[in-house]
Amino acid sequence: MKNLDYIIVGQGIAGSILAYKLMKANKKVLIFNDETLPTSSSVAGGIFNPITGKNLDKTWLADTIFPFQREFYTSLEKEFKSNFFHETNLFRPFANEQQRKHFLRLTDEYDLGNYLRIVQPNPSLFSAINNELGGLYTTSAGWVDVSLMLSNFKVFFQTNENYQAEKLDFSELKISESHISYKNIQAKRIIFCEGYYSTQNPYFNWIPFNPAKGETLIAKVEGYSINEIINQGFWIIRLSEGKCRFGSTYIWDRLDWEPTESSLELISSKISKFLTLPYQITSQEAGIRPTTKDRRPFMGNHPTHHNVYIFNGLGTKGVSLAPYFAEEMLGFLETNKVLIPEANIERFYSLYSL
Ligand SMILES: Cc1cc2nc3c(=O)[nH]c(=O)nc-3n(C[C@H](O)[C@H](O)[C@H](O)COP(=O)(O)OP(=O)(O)OC[C@H]3O[C@@H](n4cnc5c(N)ncnc54)[C@H](O)[C@@H]3O)c2cc1C
Repeated sequence: MKNLDYIIVGQGIAGSILAYKLMKANKKVLIFNDETLPTSSSVAGGIFNPITGKNLDKTWLADTIFPFQREFYTSLEKEFKSNFFHETNLFRPFANEQQRKHFLRLTDEYDLGNYLRIVQPNPSLFSAINNELGGLYTTSAGWVDVSLMLSNFKVFFQTNENYQAEKLDFSELKISESHISYKNIQAKRIIFCEGYYSTQNPYFNWIPFNPAKGETLIAKVEGYSINEIINQGFWIIRLSEGKCRFGSTYIWDRLDWEPTESSLELISSKISKFLTLPYQITSQEAGIRPTTKDRRPFMGNHPTHHNVYIFNGLGTKGVSLAPYFAEEMLGFLETNKVLIPEANIERFYSLYSL
């Protein structure tokens, strides 16, 4: 019998960062990850952006979570000797005069000076990006190469014998007051970090997810050398020399993992409005975001099984939420720190019936 402190289910952004923090706190952890499943993390643009949307909404807790994630990812890069955290900032070229006026009014009304500034047309971008009306420049933004970071995590977990490429089979899981048993393993606690797949988890299928399918395209764009993320509702990230990712769509009514012709057409047509260079699509990817009805994470323990936990619901912002909330979860698990009510699944206990 193998004795552990924690079983973690899932090695996406959520499971990886939480498992890593538990290991650093000297806990014995084993991650089960079903490598045959498609995941949200593997197709994510990885963008972090403190000011989003048509109304220039400030990301929830931005002033706290952005400095926190910066510290976390930069020190992780050092430890893994890898480069996956890209602080490139983000440029939103105005699409038309009406939009320009709308954004000028909003920037006057809100105090977003730390993060946003209006910029004049930038002639050095003209060869690739239409920006004749200027645009908005967002600082503290950038992107994480999520696939690269997760493959670094996997090597780290494997080296420390914390990783098992296996689907957790619920029929083999036995939960008692004192411990969790799974095959030849006994653990004090289990934490589910399964992203969208939690909707099929018998312990947590009562929680109100509002999953959103999304698709991105990988494109060859000869001569594209802009490091900033360009965003006009749809975005371009330069991944490497001549290679970009375009994204992304939001679909709530057909939740499968298949790329579609309609998303290909929609993303291409939106990108072509501001990208002036020719491009060639080389691949298309689809994922399902673990988004929630109230747009807040799902963290905490099961209403009746007190050694069964969830860390999920990172929605559209897994990259910026995961480092901070994994730290909160660690405090909750190990030092009885109180979780903030907006993220604690206690808010849905009334939906649970035995
Ligand atoms: C098109 C698209 C674009 C996105 N862009 C961004 C972006 O720009 N910025 C951003 O911050 N976020 C973005 N996201 C959201 C981001 O992907 C998610 O917030 C994040 O990846 C969720 O991570 P997760 O670990 O909760 O879930 P997942 O990445 O889905 O991981 C779940 C893991 O659990 C495993 N698993 C499930 N069931 C079992 C089982 N029974 N046994 C073993 N393993 C199991 C799966 O194999 C998987 O590895 C995007 C998402 C999509 C789809």
